[in-house]
Amino acid sequence: MLEFQSASLSYGATVALDSIDLTIRSGEQVCLIGPSGAGKSSLLGLCNGRVPATSGKVVLNDQNLGELKGKALKEVRSGIAWVPQDLGLIPNLRVSQNVACGLAARKGFWGLMRSLLLMGKAEKERVSGLLKRVGIEEKIFSRVDHLSGGQRQRVAIARALYQEPQMILADEPVSAVDPERAKSLVELLTTIAREEKMTLVMSLHDVDLAQRYFDRVIGMRAGRVVLDGSPDDAGVKELYRLDQ
Ligand code: ADP
Repeated sequence: MLEFQSASLSYGATVALDSIDLTIRSGEQVCLIGPSGAGKSSLLGLCNGRVPATSGKVVLNDQNLGELKGKALKEVRSGIAWVPQDLGLIPNLRVSQNVACGLAARKGFWGLMRSLLLMGKAEKERVSGLLKRVGIEEKIFSRVDHLSGGQRQRVAIARALYQEPQMILADEPVSAVDPERAKSLVELLTTIAREEKMTLVMSLHDVDLAQRYFDRVIGMRAGRVVLDGSPDDAGVKELYRLDQ
């Protein structure tokens, strides 16, 4: 369980998150929506301790992330996969190598280098199985910079799954692709998370996708949670309309 207890985050004079109280249960799929600058990325940053709260607490399975340091924080973070907006792939490496980077947090730099250079049979089979699951098995030896935007997103998902995380955090992972590809990507990620009983916290710009694929939508505005509930809530659409 992930709990925000009056968690605030400021960047200098800018209040990015203002006293957030929120509980996300293990295995739950949650979508964050809200206009640009609402605090969605900041909230995702607090979820894995990447960014410490300025005040208040973020507690993951009874551990206060703000109090964890060094090895303990690394250990917690190794169970949380992070899919950033720009996907964070290494363009001139092959798909298989990018997927293997999913274990970077656990293996450390040299361990990762070794597995990139000398990938064993079992590792190759795992990578290939994950690529099959995300629908791009045939691209295993392609360089990432030779792939389409949609294929790259699938590589980023496979890399996240390679980590065998308990939780996946995805920051607008479909902002750079067309609506059809965005839909199939969100469908894929939510389906996998449900099947594997992983917690998924994803920010999205597209309200229709949020409503279609998530049971719980958290609406943010100016650093606050202004709605939290079923995607049928009429307030979901208002969240954006008010801004225009
Ligand atoms: P969203 O993801 O909803 O677009 P963010 O969490 O990125 O919102 O931003 C929330 C607020 O914090 C905005 O006012 C933004 O300008 C500010 N902010 C975010 N990151 C930084 C940063 N690294 N330095 C200063 N201000 C930041």
